[in-house]
Amino acid sequence: MRRARARPISARRFVSREFAASQQKGPFRMTIPTDVETALNDQVNNELYSAYMYLGMATWFDSLALTGFSAWMQAQCVEELQHAQKLMQFLSDQDATITLKEIKAPPATFDDPLAALETALQAEQDNTEQINDIYELAVRQQDHATEVMMQWFIQEQVEEERSARTLIERVRLAGNDRGALLVLDAQLGERSAATG
Ligand code: MG
Repeated sequence: MRRARARPISARRFVSREFAASQQKGPFRMTIPTDVETALNDQVNNELYSAYMYLGMATWFDSLALTGFSAWMQAQCVEELQHAQKLMQFLSDQDATITLKEIKAPPATFDDPLAALETALQAEQDNTEQINDIYELAVRQQDHATEVMMQWFIQEQVEEERSARTLIERVRLAGNDRGALLVLDAQLGERSAATG
């Protein structure tokens, strides 16, 4: 006769409801570690700052009548907002606390289009580092849900850095040729109109 395997007994059985309630936000609270929760909230702020930065760049390019560059920046702004919202939804899905903090003012002016784009690339590289840090924290805490979410963001950052670098290279190719810059601006405007 086969012996029934002993079922492991959850430690939860041995605590009272009152004790469980005092330890948890609710009976179904998921176990997102506090430091991951804090890091994700900080990342929401980073993404919102990125959106704000691109919005400032869109305004600056618009003031130079470089409307194609401005449209490209607007599209980036929308993407960054979506990143913030994706993180907020992820926190909300786990019944975690969402804290919206102050967003610092982005730079308002730049020496030239190349300087603006280099600022954008630097910001993306900083963002990649912050995302990598959260991924590593999640691995250490064995928070697999955040690990998977950060993998999406890591992939996304490869794309973000690549598009900023490509644009920088094309502006460098245009050099002091204003005609070439205007052709590039027109192309960016067409692409933004087609995708957005
Ligand atoms: Mg982003």
